[in-house]
Amino acid sequence: MFDLHILGTSGSRPTTNRSVSGNYLSTPSGNIVIDCGEGFQNRLIKHELDLKNSPIGIRARVSKIKVILFTHSHFDHCWGLPPFLKTMQLDGRTKPLTIIAPSTKVAIEWTKKNYGSPIPSDSEINPSDFAILFREWQNHIESKSNNNNNNNNNNIFPIEWILIPVDGYAPINLPNHPLNDIQLTAIPTKHGVTSVGWLISSQNKVNRRILISGDTTNNVPAFNVMSLKGPLDLLIHEATFTNDLSEKADKHWHSTALDAARVAIDTKAKILGMVHFSPRIKDSKTIENEARKLNDKSFACEDGDIFQVDNNGEISLMRKHNNSWFHYDTS
Ligand SMILES: [Zn+2]
Ligand SMILES: [Zn+2]
Repeated sequence: MFDLHILGTSGSRPTTNRSVSGNYLSTPSGNIVIDCGEGFQNRLIKHELDLKNSPIGIRARVSKIKVILFTHSHFDHCWGLPPFLKTMQLDGRTKPLTIIAPSTKVAIEWTKKNYGSPIPSDSEINPSDFAILFREWQNHIESKSNNNNNNNNNNIFPIEWILIPVDGYAPINLPNHPLNDIQLTAIPTKHGVTSVGWLISSQNKVNRRILISGDTTNNVPAFNVMSLKGPLDLLIHEATFTNDLSEKADKHWHSTALDAARVAIDTKAKILGMVHFSPRIKDSKTIENEARKLNDKSFACEDGDIFQVDNNGEISLMRKHNNSWFHYDTS
């Protein structure tokens, strides 16, 4: 049903053994990338090569990606995109790609009319809103000077850039996207900039559901069973800090391990996978132990973890060791 590959578990910047955010999800209707921070393509290529050489029968091919979803425009979540698109072009990709990100109505309208002008000082528009970033990336990627084939200026594969106007905290269902039988729902979160979590659910025969929080502080209004219209199979939630740093978490719009565990309870998630650890967290077991005080099915993720959610809602975790994967006990 779903294979979710966690390709970065560090918050804000890479450390020696953790990269910044990036996830690859395979679904029966096509594959999705959720966030791709700096260096994402290198990680995915290495990950796929190791999978190819491993007997577990799971793959993460770049060519199978149909949709890229963003949670918010902080660099550790989106800055890997432009070089990744360039590599797809160099590899001769012809299949279309859809890229979806949260924005605001004001930013979308302003950018349509005024792109290239300085943002007025009294404006609420964030200079790194996706409405502006998308235009910059689009110009850059589709420009003549970046095109290796001088006879054809448009040899980039078709890219559909979709901005979702986020207003308030109600979940937003996406009616149009290329993944048949998959429902994509943006859940507005609280991170000081326009931000969403992504609820990805299968609609056909069985209803399996994964939520990826992106960065957020606690008390997101829709992170509960009623607003999400049912319980979750798998919750991937940020846990940047431990509870002794909860003031820091509030100040920087992040969550603690206890916050993540509370969301797991409120969303009736079978498994909680925690990511986005501050580089000051030296041992992720402290995160895991803290969350388990409230919710024993809590796991601090490692780069390379693969969660498999089957049709019956059974979830298994494959963890990487020496370039191969083993079953990690989640019972
Ligand atoms: Zn982040
Ligand atoms: Zn952030």
